[in-house]
Amino acid sequence: MAQDVLVVGELADGKLSPVTAELLGAATRVADGGKVSVTLLGSAAAGAAADAFAAGADRACVSSDSGYDDFRSDQWLSAVEAAVDQTSAGVVLIAQSGVGRDLGPRLAFRRNTAVAMDCLRVENVDGSLRATRSAYGGNAHATYSFATSPAVVTVRAKSQDPIEPRAGASGETVELPAAGASRTEITGREAAVSEGLQIQDAPIVVSGGRGLGAPEGFQVIEELAAAFGSDKAAVGASRAACDLGWYPPSQQVGLTGKIVSPDLYVAVAISGASQHMAGCSGSKTIVAINRDPEANIFKSARFGIVGDYKAILPELISAIKALD
Ligand SMILES: Cc1cc2nc3c(=O)[nH]c(=O)nc-3n(C[C@H](O)[C@H](O)[C@H](O)COP(=O)(O)OP(=O)(O)OC[C@H]3O[C@@H](n4cnc5c(N)ncnc54)[C@H](O)[C@@H]3O)c2cc1C
Repeated sequence: MAQDVLVVGELADGKLSPVTAELLGAATRVADGGKVSVTLLGSAAAGAAADAFAAGADRACVSSDSGYDDFRSDQWLSAVEAAVDQTSAGVVLIAQSGVGRDLGPRLAFRRNTAVAMDCLRVENVDGSLRATRSAYGGNAHATYSFATSPAVVTVRAKSQDPIEPRAGASGETVELPAAGASRTEITGREAAVSEGLQIQDAPIVVSGGRGLGAPEGFQVIEELAAAFGSDKAAVGASRAACDLGWYPPSQQVGLTGKIVSPDLYVAVAISGASQHMAGCSGSKTIVAINRDPEANIFKSARFGIVGDYKAILPELISAIKALD
């Protein structure tokens, strides 16, 4: 059954952010013939509307007021509420980003409805929304349905596929009000120093664990990531490896580290403790390399190789290089 869906769009470097295209893909599937709308806020908003139409939006609710360029939740909340009123959307999808973490609960409170945070799956079941998220440190999945409207859902990046871009698609444009006064003053901005591809953004993550035996083990992990391509693969680590000082804590994957959902997650000499899986269970494909055939990681892996990583990785690296 069709339902109208509103996506809260985000812009990056003046363009539609990749996660917004993913949410629009999810929205077209959930709408099932209903109308898909998107909010676009900030000076680049009008320019991004064409990309949003190509990515699946039927309607863009736009304000090009530069007052929206920085995310201030009170200003964005008013704009999104105006879009909810204008579109009568029964579902609001927001990225599980800095914006979504703040805006999702606020919007749900203001509309006297509920929010499901950090979801990995959204479906239309007989006209009702079902949202699924990971629970108990990745050991279970919890599925939510909503008794109130709109259903507000924040969705993890890379968990949804964008649609094939609809070249030349057009749609309706609706003006949203300019940004009002804000109670938040941004006094400064400091960019985090980070080099290369970030593990949260990488389509491939190769992670190493305590079973590497020594910090030198990460050299071969880095070689494997480099064989996939420095623009495609980043290196992660288990907490045990980080706690031993073998790899920087910034690369830790898991409950108390980063949450990643790449297309491919390669876990090398990692046992697959629930706290580690909490950070990678949203990966599309998990490949595990472990010498213990009973290791927990094999329960989550689509492909598993039982053996010593020292013997397996050089072979794997040569095989990947041979593909070029
Ligand atoms: C509150 C809390 C939060 C936590 N948060 C996190 C978190 O964010 N991230 C995280 O990762 N952990 C976290 N942990 C720790 C977690 O419980 C595990 O202790 C940790 O994930 C284990 O890391 P590991 O798999 O690298 O090491 P181990 O459990 O020691 O596993 C090593 C694996 O390597 C295999 N192995 C050994 N030698 C080889 C070889 N030569 N070739 C192939 N395989 C080999 C072994 O068979 C074993 O399966 C947390 C724990 C708590 C209590």
